[in-house]
Amino acid sequence: MLLKSKKINFVWLCCLAIFAFSCSEGGDGDSSPQNDQESPNTPGGVSRLNLSQLNANDGVMMQAFYWDVEPKGEWYNIISSKIEDWKSNGINRIWLPPPSKGQSGFNSMGYDPSDYFDLGEFEQHGTIETRFGSKAELKSLIDLSHQNNIEVIADIVMGHNSGGGKQENPFRGGEEVYTLFNEMNGNASGKFNRTNEHFHPNDIHDNDEEALFFAETDLCHDQPYVREWLWERNDSFAEFLKDFGFDGWRFDYVKSFNPKYVKAWNDKVGGFSVGENFDGNGQVLKKWVEDSGSPAFDFACFYKLDEALDRHQDLTFLDRDMLRKIYPEQAVTFTANHDTEKDENPNNRISLANKLLAYAYILTHDGYPCIFISDYDNTVLNKKLQNLIAIYNGLATGAIKTLKVSEKEYIMQREGTTTNPGLILYMNIDRRANSFEVTSKWKNAQLLDYSGNVNEVLNTDANGVTTIKAPANSFAIWSLGE
Ligand code: ZN
Ligand code: ZN
Repeated sequence: MLLKSKKINFVWLCCLAIFAFSCSEGGDGDSSPQNDQESPNTPGGVSRLNLSQLNANDGVMMQAFYWDVEPKGEWYNIISSKIEDWKSNGINRIWLPPPSKGQSGFNSMGYDPSDYFDLGEFEQHGTIETRFGSKAELKSLIDLSHQNNIEVIADIVMGHNSGGGKQENPFRGGEEVYTLFNEMNGNASGKFNRTNEHFHPNDIHDNDEEALFFAETDLCHDQPYVREWLWERNDSFAEFLKDFGFDGWRFDYVKSFNPKYVKAWNDKVGGFSVGENFDGNGQVLKKWVEDSGSPAFDFACFYKLDEALDRHQDLTFLDRDMLRKIYPEQAVTFTANHDTEKDENPNNRISLANKLLAYAYILTHDGYPCIFISDYDNTVLNKKLQNLIAIYNGLATGAIKTLKVSEKEYIMQREGTTTNPGLILYMNIDRRANSFEVTSKWKNAQLLDYSGNVNEVLNTDANGVTTIKAPANSFAIWSLGE
């Protein structure tokens, strides 16, 4: 039913466009650009299509934390208070920080896991709650998310552990190391107690084939006991999280263990999955995706955006290798995360000045975009980001055709479908406004810039030809008006 009505609407629009009075360029005197999706541009009486009815995509993910979130013990409640706004703005998944108790207790961001089964329930490492709250508060957040059709993704840290007791390690010539995890030593739950043989080196081998990490407490997944407790048993950590309500997984630092273990985890419990393979090389990401069977964050796309926008001011970098060009269905695109935002090296971070250009890129292309909470909550970005998410969910569909790539201009068309008009993204990092003649599929039609950056109606001729525009150091996203 919905599909049919959309189709009629689209055909009707095209017919209307043929007879529509041709508007002059230059707007109608309403000069203030409006970016709020609830008060769309209406230059010359032409208004935006209703994006919420166009269903190009099902939603985007929100990374629901940044480094050292405050206040301690309140984070789950704070996120709960945001869920309804996120739902109404097109978020369909949230990625939470690692839920298990870490060695640094109330200060822990979760990346130093000690007791996998303590989600804020046992008193150890100086606290019952985790930095983010109690187990009950986490449960409430998950339930509320599900009521709003939002999936909840757990951050899985299974490469290394922290916070165990000291013990003599025969595999290290009797040296004392912190590899003892039991009820008295950082593992109050008593589930998945560990000892020196579960870490590297051990009686199987000295190390993973991959790079060394956390030398003394690097978990060995070749030990059957470790695999059993992490995902194989029916009361494993993975099953425990799934029973608790988590819908999927973000695998931390996957360079520290074999990708076959991500595959094994997902084969056992299923659900959405994305790996953090911190590598800007698209071919490395491709290989990891093939070996693990899991989507991955598109660090190649992230670094190309940084090179194109920040480092070199040269948009031809966008023409290079990225995971989303190889496996669009397996690429989770992003412009910032908890690591990049605190990195002091500007080459590992996209500057605030270029954030919207970067978001315009990921929210018009293929791949599954992840929005960073600090960007969404930034009052400078918030309304424009909400609008870009609406554009992604409404118009970012169909084949991708690159119309122009030069140092200062990048123009890309999503060709849409029979029921969806698609869009044309025009990125312009020149110091002056630019324009470009395109032959679109929109014939005798009126086009609007859905980004709100150009307050003008464009008319296409009988062949779909028109000259699209983008302001200096900005972008426009052209599509059909009605
Ligand atoms: Zn091993
Ligand atoms: Zn940068």
